[in-house]
Amino acid sequence: MLQIKNLTVSSGSKKILENIELEINENEIHVLMGPNGAGKSTLCKSILAHPSLKKEGIITFNGKDILNEKTDKIAKEGIYYIAQSPMEIEGVKNTELIRTALKEKNEPMDIFTFNKEYKNYAEILKIPKDFIHREVNVNMSGGEKKKNELLTMLFLKPKLILLDEIDSGLDVDAVKVVAKVLKEYQRQTKCAIMLISHQEMLLKLLEPTHVHIMMNKTIIKNGHKELINEILEKGFAEFSRDLL
Ligand code: ADP
Ligand code: MG
Repeated sequence: MLQIKNLTVSSGSKKILENIELEINENEIHVLMGPNGAGKSTLCKSILAHPSLKKEGIITFNGKDILNEKTDKIAKEGIYYIAQSPMEIEGVKNTELIRTALKEKNEPMDIFTFNKEYKNYAEILKIPKDFIHREVNVNMSGGEKKKNELLTMLFLKPKLILLDEIDSGLDVDAVKVVAKVLKEYQRQTKCAIMLISHQEMLLKLLEPTHVHIMMNKTIIKNGHKELINEILEKGFAEFSRDLL
């Protein structure tokens, strides 16, 4: 599904990522772990073509070259990103954002179906139904923003989801709800998920298939579930020592 080869990302003259190699396929759950400032968020942003980042290398999605594609085109191909701190969009209501996005995807939804689906998704995610009329993420708590972004995701039905510290801001019950929603969505759609997280509970509930450690601007180690315990026990410093 997603193939990244020899990717270098820079902002101005500063190199932030170097020689990234990553392959993500249908039905997989990848976890990207690494110390603060390693470049995890930058990898997500560069996949979605953040305008401040310059990329060199290869990024393909379902066989299509998306390296130099614009963000809206990449989103239309089916990649959805939930940022570490989702942006507040004043003056745009959730309902307007979602219905406009559906129209852009050539999947317009009449208002009756939309209201019914919204109510259903809000119930599943345990968020108030009146969020439908709220401005996108405006004055929402950290956890509410994450759930609000997930609700939009359920409408847009992406094939690959990038979750940047989805657990930050979520209380214990909300982590369980989010994990359950993601698992069920994956069961129905066979989507791929890449998440950045160090939260033991979320990682246990989601059961990742692949684990990657990012340090010194690149992915230094790939592994499976067992690697998570190793990281949580030893910390990242131990892995950087292996590199010396
Ligand atoms: P992580 O998500 O792993 O904590 P980030 O990807 O946010 O790390 O950041 C990686 C490094 O790149 C940090 O040192 C950060 O300050 C720097 N960085 C990120 N974006 C930019 C940018 N647009 N311009 C300059 N430096 C940046
Ligand atoms: Mg980050």
